[in-house]
Amino acid sequence: MSDIFGADYVRAISPYQAGKPISEVAREFGLNESRIIKLASNENPLGIPPSAQEAVQEALCGVGGRYPDANGFILKAALSARYGVPADWITLGNGSNDILELATRALVRQGEETVYSEYAFAVYPLATQAVGAKGIRVPAKNYGHDLPAIRAAMTPNARLVFIANPNNPTGTFLSAAELETFLSEVPPHVVVVLDEAYNEYLDGSLQYDSAEWVRRYPNVLVSRTFSKMYGLAGLRVGFGIAQPALTDLLNRVRQPFNVNAVAQVAAIAAMNDTEFVRKSAELNVAGYRQLVRACEAMRLEYVPSRGNFVLIRVGSDKEAGARANLALLKRGIIVRPVAAYGLPEWLRVTIGLPEENEAFISALRELLA
Ligand SMILES: *Cc1c(COP(=O)(O)O)cnc(C)c1O
Repeated sequence: MSDIFGADYVRAISPYQAGKPISEVAREFGLNESRIIKLASNENPLGIPPSAQEAVQEALCGVGGRYPDANGFILKAALSARYGVPADWITLGNGSNDILELATRALVRQGEETVYSEYAFAVYPLATQAVGAKGIRVPAKNYGHDLPAIRAAMTPNARLVFIANPNNPTGTFLSAAELETFLSEVPPHVVVVLDEAYNEYLDGSLQYDSAEWVRRYPNVLVSRTFSKMYGLAGLRVGFGIAQPALTDLLNRVRQPFNVNAVAQVAAIAAMNDTEFVRKSAELNVAGYRQLVRACEAMRLEYVPSRGNFVLIRVGSDKEAGARANLALLKRGIIVRPVAAYGLPEWLRVTIGLPEENEAFISALRELLA
């Protein structure tokens, strides 16, 4: 590796390992692309909503040759109405990954600190390292966030704390009451990024109004995405909600055209497609049941999940996850190994269509036999 160019903290970054694309697995293992099942990146197995597909096709010719609206006026208006916050409280992102990075770039200097949980989303340490800051990783409790310990880990040097709810890759969930207590105790010099990428999968009884917390606290930034339930992972669109002072800072470091015109149109269609959302939620509930029943039948430990994925312990040695992953790939099934998260005995499996889940279950049964 070259040590001539770049900051030492940038050279120290190990890049994000994405779920393997279908085409790559087909090439590597000599498989037919159309037979490959991808349960690796928590995408909606229904794909892009038909309503969004239509909107995109209609819009493409009209908007494709022009720069997108840098301020996303129409999409922000729709989000503003949905979440009950003014449009100038919203930041659009090229996926919500962009929001996480904008927050880090705008708020954290080299040498300062961010705080996140063990087993939390891999982008938090990456965004932290990219600005030369120090990530404080707080040991997990039952695979989830230990909020009192996270609170205790915030030094005067802390600037940002990331909380994913539900968390990826573990699927653990923090109740509204737990978060409420936590938010009331976070010192004002620390911004809380509440990453709600999987919020749409929560049962109604677990839902809470995070926009209300944004109204109450000037140091809360809620992050949402169209990549998961809304089925637009390939188009890259997400958004943040925060009070105007914080939103203004994020927008200062944002690329003016970070959300493309097609994605803006698709997002509006998807968010209004209540039928698609309902169907996706139902499919997820049934698929979750299917997967955890199979785990129980095979006596495999799993972490109860509130997202559209399940973390499954496929063995008891440090190679178990890698071994099962390879055996699944050979059978044309892509899941996510999570050794990089410190979980080498586990695999994370996205909840797919019933037949995809079934194919995963029978392959797993076969390879563990
Ligand atoms: C998938 C995911 C995201 C963001 O994905 P985008 O496609 O960039 O919106 C953010 N946080 C968590 C916890 C995720 O799992």
